[in-house]
Amino acid sequence: MRALVKAESREGLWLRDEPVPEIGPGDVLIRVRKTGICGTDVHIWNWDDWARRTVPVPMVVGHEFAGEIVELGRDVSGLAVGQRCSGEGHLVGQSSRQSRSGQFHLDPETRGIGVNMPGAFAEYLRLPAFNVVPLPDSVPDRIGAILDPLGNAVHTALSFNLIGEDVLITGAGPIGIMAAAVARHVGARHVVITDVNQTRLDLAASVADVVPVNVATEDLAAVCARLAMRQGFDVGLEMSGNAAAFDQMIDSMVMGGRIAMLGIPPRPAPFDWNRVVFKSLTIKGIYGREIFETWYKMLAMLENGLDIGGVITHEMPAADFACGFQIMRQGESGKIVLDWG
Ligand code: NAD
Ligand code: ZN
Repeated sequence: MRALVKAESREGLWLRDEPVPEIGPGDVLIRVRKTGICGTDVHIWNWDDWARRTVPVPMVVGHEFAGEIVELGRDVSGLAVGQRCSGEGHLVGQSSRQSRSGQFHLDPETRGIGVNMPGAFAEYLRLPAFNVVPLPDSVPDRIGAILDPLGNAVHTALSFNLIGEDVLITGAGPIGIMAAAVARHVGARHVVITDVNQTRLDLAASVADVVPVNVATEDLAAVCARLAMRQGFDVGLEMSGNAAAFDQMIDSMVMGGRIAMLGIPPRPAPFDWNRVVFKSLTIKGIYGREIFETWYKMLAMLENGLDIGGVITHEMPAADFACGFQIMRQGESGKIVLDWG
């Protein structure tokens, strides 16, 4: 089969022939149709410090996918050959305290497909049946391929009650944009999204009914005043990983505000925690998706009017992967979807 492989310990990825994975008794084999390129995949392409430390070579990369089940392990029940599906790319164990109490997304033994285990940028993917998420007919493969990052957005956005609340989202990357659409869908009052990249802010405004603010040229406080907000934002969703954005978020919150943090800071940054204490802020870190509560909620929202399709700005054959990665690296795109035929 064709697969996109981190084949050598240096910058780049290589499309090459790999054996079709053999499945175990509890696994399914999935014929991959469409995949999404993630920032994580770009780190692996770039072969930065994190990627060197984390990814064994060779490794089939990729974790955002939609496809169709073509083979069932002998112990698998409740799934069928021909079933369209996506799936949770975090493979969890069953022995930790967290897993045994049903909080699979907190399992410290989590391994990721396309990072520590063979991934989805391939014609076939082996996945534990437990991780499979069947796709309703109304959710096409191109959307199925981006449920992993949509799940990040949903997990973060639904961490706090948003109904009637004023919400600040820092970072209009694909996940921030999808979180904005979710916040709007569930009934937030004002949804303001910030970035320093005008192309991405324009994309955000085309996908969801939000107020885009370019913090490189506009004053966020003036925007809040224009919207007749009271003291500031009730809920913050940090989706940039940028220290200045987090700083601005802390400044812009109400007393008692709540912040969910998805963005991953690339390096440690000094911070004055007095501002959190004296504002009585609640800050929650977010990792991955709740398994499987996030998946149920996002599919239900997609089937009931949540439309994030506009966040996909490029679709191309898998053979053109280098072009897709090039566009990703320029940082001006939304989601890029590769077609595996
Ligand atoms: P992205 O890099 O595409 O988007 C981040 C955006 O933040 C960019 O558009 C950038 O211009 C913007 N930004 C930079 N400086 C800013 C500032 N001062 N104010 C406002 N915005 C600013 O990332 P993405 O793919 O949308 O993912 C969002 C974040 O979530 C990333 O940090 C990513 O690493 C992280 N992430 C975390 C998890 C998790 O499980 N915790 C999972 C996936 C992604
Ligand atoms: Zn991802």
